[in-house]
Amino acid sequence: MDLDDYYSVLGVERNATKEEIKKAYRKLALKYHPDRNKDPGADEKFKKISEAYAVLSDDEKRRQYDMYGSSAFSGYSAEDIFRGADFSDFEDIFSGSPFADIFSSFFGRMRRRKDYGSDLSYDLEVSLEEVFKGAKKSISYYHNAPCNACKGIGAEDGKGFVSCGECGGRGYVRSINRTIFGRMVSERPCNACNGAGKVPKHPCAKCNGKGYENKYEKIELKIPRGIPHGISLRVPQGGEFGKDGIGDLYVNVYIQPHNEFSREGNNIFSKVKLDMVTAALGGAVEIKTLHGTQKINIKPGIQTGDKHTIRNKGMPIFRASGYGDHIVEFFVETPTNLNREQKELLRKFAGIKKKKFGIF
Ligand SMILES: [Zn+2]
Ligand SMILES: [Zn+2]
Repeated sequence: MDLDDYYSVLGVERNATKEEIKKAYRKLALKYHPDRNKDPGADEKFKKISEAYAVLSDDEKRRQYDMYGSSAFSGYSAEDIFRGADFSDFEDIFSGSPFADIFSSFFGRMRRRKDYGSDLSYDLEVSLEEVFKGAKKSISYYHNAPCNACKGIGAEDGKGFVSCGECGGRGYVRSINRTIFGRMVSERPCNACNGAGKVPKHPCAKCNGKGYENKYEKIELKIPRGIPHGISLRVPQGGEFGKDGIGDLYVNVYIQPHNEFSREGNNIFSKVKLDMVTAALGGAVEIKTLHGTQKINIKPGIQTGDKHTIRNKGMPIFRASGYGDHIVEFFVETPTNLNREQKELLRKFAGIKKKKFGIF
């Protein structure tokens, strides 16, 4: 049995109803409540069952847990796990107890909220031809990049740090509020040291000890052949600076509309006008594709809306080999501005037709 399994922790079946989960938690909360249970370890047990309840009582979190197990929450802080959890039905157990303090000390210890820089996104337009051939595009933007002088550390000599005076080196500051659980201690990262608990003794002169500077960045980005519309390409560490890691840049690739071709998946579509005679008699027609001009033979009697597929003359297949098709749709053009001779011929043609059908 997995001792950390939330269902086992609460002693319920995997298909337990919300009521069963609530009942199980109430029973265990009464048993391990640190006010009643002075056994060493009761504390830990109480936190564990509360965590299990926070997850299993929340439909969305429970669904994630059922799908991925505890790995679903590997990136979560304790705060994230408890966020939105509803303990209001247990007010009677917790009121006037140091419950709130237990939780906040728990959060405090688990907090180590990492200072990761945020991701950035950039919208890039490319032409259909560029997607066909693959392209190199340059992108320029501003972001907070690690300071060159101190390499993102913020201190002049690279290591001289002193404890932060603002938070006493804890990295967070506390405030105490009254809530339904009684006294609730909340904590937030210290602004002076950004949660690090220490500040440079001699702040870097270039960045004032911040560790980063706003930088104009110009990068070359390779657009892979056949990339679908709306796909994001990730540029690792192209985002904002953070002491514990730099965010990424996501480049959203949008394909501009083309005046001759449209695209659906790997296939390219075009519309081609046919003169009346070729449509009627058939013949060779030149079709423009992304691969160049293709000569195709069309059969006699083509109608408006008829389609012809030219195999493997479409888009390269994204991250694979091969190509989609080129599909051409025909439109038969009715002639205008006919000269006398042409009109005469058409009348003759119509006459032949009449006579032929006149027999029947
Ligand atoms: Zn610096
Ligand atoms: Zn501080």
